[in-house]
Amino acid sequence: MGKDQQYYHWTDVIADKIIRVKGDKDKYIIQSGITPSGTIHLGGFREVITADLIRRALEKRGKNVEFLYIWDDYDVLRKVPVNLPKQDMIQEHLRKPVFRVPDPYGCHETYALHFEKEFEEDNKAVGMKATFVYSHERYLKCEFAEEIKTALEHTAEIKTILNEYRRKPLNDDWLPIFVFCAKCHFDKVSKIEWKKGYDVSYECECGHKDTIDFRKDGIVTLRWRVDWPMRWHHNKVDFETAGKDHFAAGGSVDTGLKIQRQVYKTEPPVGVDTKDFYEWIGIKGRGQFASSTGNVVTLREMLEVYEPEIVRYLFAGTRPNREFSISFDVDVLALYEEFDRVERVYFGLETVNEKKTQQMKVAYELAAISKIPDHMPYQPSYRHLTMLLQIYDFDIDKVIGYFESQLKSDFDKNRLRTRAACAANWIKKYAPEDFKFTVQETCQVTVPEEGKKILHELAAKLEEREWTDKELHEEMYVLCTNHEYPSKDFFKLAYNVLVNKDKGPRLASFILEIGKGNVAALFTSV
Ligand SMILES: [Zn+2]
Ligand SMILES: [Zn+2]
Repeated sequence: MGKDQQYYHWTDVIADKIIRVKGDKDKYIIQSGITPSGTIHLGGFREVITADLIRRALEKRGKNVEFLYIWDDYDVLRKVPVNLPKQDMIQEHLRKPVFRVPDPYGCHETYALHFEKEFEEDNKAVGMKATFVYSHERYLKCEFAEEIKTALEHTAEIKTILNEYRRKPLNDDWLPIFVFCAKCHFDKVSKIEWKKGYDVSYECECGHKDTIDFRKDGIVTLRWRVDWPMRWHHNKVDFETAGKDHFAAGGSVDTGLKIQRQVYKTEPPVGVDTKDFYEWIGIKGRGQFASSTGNVVTLREMLEVYEPEIVRYLFAGTRPNREFSISFDVDVLALYEEFDRVERVYFGLETVNEKKTQQMKVAYELAAISKIPDHMPYQPSYRHLTMLLQIYDFDIDKVIGYFESQLKSDFDKNRLRTRAACAANWIKKYAPEDFKFTVQETCQVTVPEEGKKILHELAAKLEEREWTDKELHEEMYVLCTNHEYPSKDFFKLAYNVLVNKDKGPRLASFILEIGKGNVAALFTSV
């Protein structure tokens, strides 16, 4: 295959761009960040997973990478999210930094930590490797004192940059900093003045006023539009991306790039500088995410029905600048089948053309959470699991027992347990009615005489010998022909007796899964 036909995954394209722009370095810094002002939904996750996939691509090139995940927990809480308990309590703490607000659930030290830990755990489950940085700790330690001073010294320049895109220019007394009251911790502060050097004075609504040295008091922060480029500079970030709204003309990316170059005199990260933004994601059938309407899905909800590898596979499979939708309907089954196929291609058990093979191999590697097994793992079919789980009344251990002899490694066992749990959740939460059934212990319907005869005969046949799927399937048609009974009516009748519904899983295999003895007993009883 010629070089021009070489397949490049989007993560390879960006990784090569980072190396080209930033040069050969001992260590590359990837950064991402979010304000933990509530449950982080999949929009926020897209940013993280995009960064993490690029980390993998750099590591594949033998590079040393650190992924800094910045929790912007020194940001103020601006409104009370609708879905949280203790609304009144949260209301009282509005306009405080999120790390100063108590956890409404009472299980963590702070509001911020609750959402941070929830997201961190779920991200570990999908194989993300990041250094979590809690902004408030850095600020309280006055780590950015020099950069704050630099920003203050360049106030006029920063104002010019920001005013370029503003209809109403910033006030004359505008400063690139903000102060949280040391006494009440709210942001209801006014008359902020920069005295000289590191000294700032302020007055608070609560009556407190003070002059502080921001090398000693970590209550001074940079305003968001300055804070972001300051961090690119301070952390020497090589790659950072953001949602497309930040990339609007005159948006925080435009002004941030100028501020980093003109004020901090360093070069911005690839990503923001190269306009590699990420797009929105939606939920199939429910449109785009919108926090305001509660139309959001979290990573945790996604992990309820998707194995972590498949979550990675899904995000790796779509370029970040393309929109896509997450499905919770029957597409889930198709996606599992697709992933299993990719795995078979990876292990050479199925062949596709050369280009597709390359694509699938890269996708499979990016999807892996841990070391890829040496041998092809066992692939329990998701569809099959949805049937078994219902036959075994959602007893996952029984379902695992069913596959026991097929499992060769811990990887196989873990996958089966995860996949079975996902399939169980899917049936309970999302499966269409067609997929749901309960095997009946006694027949709930009235069976016509001719129907009874054919069911009794089938029961006898079942007891007679062992059957394969295919043989049993054919045998049922023979019975129908012999009795001059329309096969369509027969299947409907059988499902009604078995699950009290007109339809169900493929009948022959379904009967064998339930156990031919049980089915024979039920059919005989009609
Ligand atoms: Zn909590
Ligand atoms: Zn105060």
